[in-house]
Amino acid sequence: MSKIVGIDLGTTNSLVAVVDSGIPYVLADADGQRLTPSVVYFPSATGQPMVGRTANRVRALHPTETVYSIKRFMGRRGVDIPTEETRMPYPVVGNGNGPVTVALHGRQWTPEEISAEILKKLKADAEKSLGETISRAVITVPAYFNDAQRNATIRAGELAGLKVERIVNEPTAAALAYGLDRLQEQSRIAVYDLGGGTFDLSILELSQGTFQVLSTNGNTRLGGDDIDRCVTDFLLREIGRADGPQLDPDQPALSVGDLSILARVREAAETAKIQLSTESAADVSLPFLTPGFSFSLRLTRSVLEELALPILERTRAHCLRSLSDARLSAGDLHQVILVGGQTRMPLVRRLVSQWFGCVEFTEQRGDVRLGEEYHQTPGPQLNTGVHPDEAVALGAAIQAEILAGGFRHLLLLDVTPLSLGIETFGGLMYPIIPRNTTIPVKAGELFTTAVDHQKSMLIHVLQGERERARDNWSLGRFEIEFESAPKGVPRVGVQFEIDANGVLHVLARDVKTGHQKIVTMKSAVDVADSEVQRMVEESVEQAFDDLRFRQWTEAKRTASDTLTATRKTMAEYDSELDPEYRTQIIEAMDAVEKVLELENRSTKTGDPAALKAATARLDEVTQALASHAMDQVMEAMLRKKGVLPASVGPA
Ligand code: AMP
Repeated sequence: MSKIVGIDLGTTNSLVAVVDSGIPYVLADADGQRLTPSVVYFPSATGQPMVGRTANRVRALHPTETVYSIKRFMGRRGVDIPTEETRMPYPVVGNGNGPVTVALHGRQWTPEEISAEILKKLKADAEKSLGETISRAVITVPAYFNDAQRNATIRAGELAGLKVERIVNEPTAAALAYGLDRLQEQSRIAVYDLGGGTFDLSILELSQGTFQVLSTNGNTRLGGDDIDRCVTDFLLREIGRADGPQLDPDQPALSVGDLSILARVREAAETAKIQLSTESAADVSLPFLTPGFSFSLRLTRSVLEELALPILERTRAHCLRSLSDARLSAGDLHQVILVGGQTRMPLVRRLVSQWFGCVEFTEQRGDVRLGEEYHQTPGPQLNTGVHPDEAVALGAAIQAEILAGGFRHLLLLDVTPLSLGIETFGGLMYPIIPRNTTIPVKAGELFTTAVDHQKSMLIHVLQGERERARDNWSLGRFEIEFESAPKGVPRVGVQFEIDANGVLHVLARDVKTGHQKIVTMKSAVDVADSEVQRMVEESVEQAFDDLRFRQWTEAKRTASDTLTATRKTMAEYDSELDPEYRTQIIEAMDAVEKVLELENRSTKTGDPAALKAATARLDEVTQALASHAMDQVMEAMLRKKGVLPASVGPA
């Protein structure tokens, strides 16, 4: 069986890693480089696309044909993308509900096709390095990717000739990379992951080799690129002030010449930003921006920090939310791990340290972790010991090894944040998988019909904690057909399966014929934590009303069944009933109907206790009628079998 590789398909850079003899490591390409820029240059309609460093090199020369940050468009529709985001130097086309595409040389490329080019290069590099064919991979995605984005990632893998064995959240992968050496400890860690295009803050608990995600919060459109944009805008303003070309990057329809200038300024901005992580000043030099204009400027770390601060401040709210979702305070954490290239910036480390009240330790010399001796005060340690650019890919490789049967002591746990179920009679939610169930999971129930001669059943899939179907989130609906039969006869088995990628598959099967339908719903685990919290809080606040609604709906169903049966039996034996007894029954039926009429129209709730009492009274009154009817049925049956003489009949 071929090796499974771990791939970090990043917005800015991508990496491929493997585990060899128990040790995870990132593979290098033929030039010895371990980071492959996620950049693809399309030289012509038919020519082979160039990927990685070579594509990055021509980015400024061919801005309209060189695609970068394609991850931002994965699995997204035209309507999902704000106009300013489509303003890339290459032509991004986003129409309504259709997928976003990139128009190149008269062809529309989907983001997954472009990502597949990056994956093909990683696959080829890995094959060269390992000397074997690679056909299986674990690929990471930001925790906040929705189902469409995850599926697009899986498709990209397939287009590249890779079977995607598992999609893993990036922070979870990073924690895996970190967790290997501290398996026996029980610890809670926060993963602060700031890459080129996305930000995530996840809180995980590590216990005896098991990782559990407690909460995650983030933004799929916040990252180092935003800092680059601010620095670019700053440089463009300075260029304008120095009588250079006046360029507004947000202006639509820039000329190819302007786009080329913009690409050079952007590249210079990012280079300076990276240099300023280790130095206090960087020289930005842009010779011959236009034939008669060259530009140079000395950018200091403090100016960069001023520009970057508002962007970094935006990550703070996500940190706080994630902590509150996990019901923890910073003091409850043992470690804060920094992941993503942008966390190399000293300002990021300072801010994260401040926000979490961290003690910093970064270096490991022999067995001594520097800084550990200062860790007397409460507050987590800021851990940058894991290579921030490589942690995610290393974690993906570890997950791949687990799938291949290695690292048996490790297990990755994810849970469903909210209950999943279907709508049943009377608009009630029937939970099939309760919240906080560890995934992957499979569970099912048998359902039947509530109305005579139904020919199909609507499977309305819901997610949430409320008793009423309408107060939960609708994930989708479909119908399963079966032969018409009296109510209660058809049997439909409904099975929910949440796979390891958090995707929900719903199967409905007519037990009699075996006819079945399987529908894949949106991801069941990727729900914004704030939404989960709101749902849970509402379910607690409304618990009393919700319970009353459930009790009323159930009592209503029993009442309506009893009324129908009484009416039917009365009609059948009307001539045999004593008039006084008939009046008694009618009065008991009226009493039930009166309680039913008192149902509040807007809340669809009445007094369940009164209804139960009235139905019980009706039951009691009709006991004699029911036993009379039963006797008649028995006699008719026996007569049919020839057991009783035909002359014996009702009194
Ligand atoms: P990633 O998505 O994790 O590959 O991170 C890429 C982002 O990290 C880009 O915005 C890079 O400009 C940024 N980055 C990479 N190295 C550094 C560095 N040494 N200092 C600051 N930012 C960096």
